[in-house]
Amino acid sequence: MHIRVSDVKKWVGRQETKHFTEEWPELVQERSPYPMRGAAEMDVTVRNVGRALIVELEGLGQVEVLCSRCLEPFVLAVPFSLTEEFREEPGMSDPNEDFFRFQGDKVFLDEIVADTFGASIPYAPVCGDDCHGLCPTCGTNLNRGSCHCDNPLDPRWTALSRLKFPEDNSSS
Ligand SMILES: [Zn+2]
Ligand SMILES: [Zn+2]
Repeated sequence: MHIRVSDVKKWVGRQETKHFTEEWPELVQERSPYPMRGAAEMDVTVRNVGRALIVELEGLGQVEVLCSRCLEPFVLAVPFSLTEEFREEPGMSDPNEDFFRFQGDKVFLDEIVADTFGASIPYAPVCGDDCHGLCPTCGTNLNRGSCHCDNPLDPRWTALSRLKFPEDNSSS
């Protein structure tokens, strides 16, 4: 995936927007623990600010994940966005610099799209705000039915209730 910048480069202030519909490249697959579903839709704007080109990207992709409460698979829409600076300079991009390097008429975006998308997948996805999760005692999916266990706590908080807090030993 790349954006042509031959026109944008011609004068300061010029900008272009392009829409991309991309099947997920392998690079993205490598950075996601989950399988991709469908194509990602992305709007990419590139703007010439003189010293550099500013690339702004807004995208939406989908991955199949497991709900962190009920463990059922579902397809999650993942919005992602980035703003990066590209300077036309020779050499490889250096992670210690706060810009990327490019040369010629194309700016390649696969790496940064892949990194951004991978980082945008939530750590603990939930299939819905109203997901009741699993019964911590018998494992019944409480979205599908109830069980006969006596669980005074909301199952979402069971992990929290297992935390041990240190005794208060302060002498009074
Ligand atoms: Zn769920
Ligand atoms: Zn139960």
